[in-house]
Amino acid sequence: MRLTVLSGPSGVGKSTVAASIRRAYSQIWLSVSVTTRAPRPREADGREYHFVSDREFDRMVANGELLEWAVFAGHKYGTPKRPVTEKLREGIPALLEIDLAGARQVRQTVPGALLVFLAPPSWEELIRRLTSRRTESPDVIGKRLEVARIELAAGSEFDVTLVNTSVEDVCQRLVTLMLAPAGR
Ligand code: 5GP
Repeated sequence: MRLTVLSGPSGVGKSTVAASIRRAYSQIWLSVSVTTRAPRPREADGREYHFVSDREFDRMVANGELLEWAVFAGHKYGTPKRPVTEKLREGIPALLEIDLAGARQVRQTVPGALLVFLAPPSWEELIRRLTSRRTESPDVIGKRLEVARIELAAGSEFDVTLVNTSVEDVCQRLVTLMLAPAGR
C-alpha cells in the first residue's frame, strides 16, 4: 500500500479536507501528527493532533521516531513514523496532511509516496482567504501573500494537483486516487 501526502499553500483548506476525510471516509487512515502548539477549542488530543511539550517533541526527533517534521509559524509539527509503517503493512491506505517542507522530506525519504498538491481555485481566491482576517496589519498580509506566491510555485514538484473547488469534490478525487490500483 502506498503512502499519500496532501500538501499545498497555507490557507488553501488542507485541514478542512483532512477533517472531511476523517469524518466521511473510514477506509482511509489519517495520520495524527504531534505538535507543540496549544490545542484550539474543539480540538481533542489524539484526534486532530497529539499535543506534546517541546521537550517531548525533541526527544522524538532525537529517537528517530518522526517520519518528517517542520517548524510552522513558530511551532513544531511532525509525523510519528511507526503508525504509518504499521498501517501500510496492514494494507490500509494512509494519508498525511502536512506543510510543504514536510512533503519535501517525504519525497526524499519515501520514494513510492504519492504527493498531492491542493491548489486554490484561483490566485484571487487565495488572496481573498488570506486577507479576510481583518485583524491583521497590511504589513502582515503583505508577507502572507509573498509566502503564498512562493508556495504556489511548489505545485510543479508534486505528482498530482487537485484544485479546491469544493471540499466534497476534492475528497472524492483524493480518495479515488488513493484507492486506485498501484502502478498507474
Ligand atoms: P495548524 O496549526 O493550522 O493545524 O497547522 C499548521 C500547518 O502545519 C498546516 O500547514 C499543516 O498542514 C501543517 N502540519 C500539520 N501536521 C504536520 C506534520 O506532521 N508535519 C508537517 N511538516 N506539517 C504539519
